[in-house]
Amino acid sequence: MRIINYLNLEIPSKSRNESLARVVIAAFATQLDPTLEELNDVKTAVSEAVTNAIIHGYENNIAGVINIKAVLYEDAIMIEIEDKGSGIEDLEKAREPLFTSKPEQERSGMGFAIMENFMDKIEVITAPGVGTKVIMHKGFKQIDNKVE
Ligand code: ATP
Ligand code: MG
Repeated sequence: MRIINYLNLEIPSKSRNESLARVVIAAFATQLDPTLEELNDVKTAVSEAVTNAIIHGYENNIAGVINIKAVLYEDAIMIEIEDKGSGIEDLEKAREPLFTSKPEQERSGMGFAIMENFMDKIEVITAPGVGTKVIMHKGFKQIDNKVE
């Protein structure tokens, strides 16, 4: 598939950057003229992944760095959200709906399930002590899209 545009964004792990990342990626995705529903799906998935990097990856330490990469294809977007934080010990368990390692913080354990539902595909690469990278893909349905 032909790459139409790309974006690299590096932000510190501050909670205010969750909404910043969401808005930046939404503005970027808008270049493909997605439906409002598709755009909201992307925004929600980005929020979940960035929130996870901040609260789990970096345990709310604002010195952490989050790298976001997005690529636009003619009718699809790929988004990577990477932290160099704690990593995930048991990924299979972490991806189960309702699993959370922070029940005392009233987390619902639905982040990964939401990302999976709202995007077409999500891939997680993680190693304890090294960090976590979430790679998400979503296709947009409009047919007559001629972005250059
Ligand atoms: P919710 O997203 O509903 O607020 P949650 O964040 O606990 O709750 P998920 O987003 O599904 O739920 O993540 C499940 C678990 O995976 C987390 O509780 C955490 O243990 C682990 N996890 C997720 N992302 C990361 C990350 N970037 N770094 C380290 N651990 C992570
Ligand atoms: Mg979460």
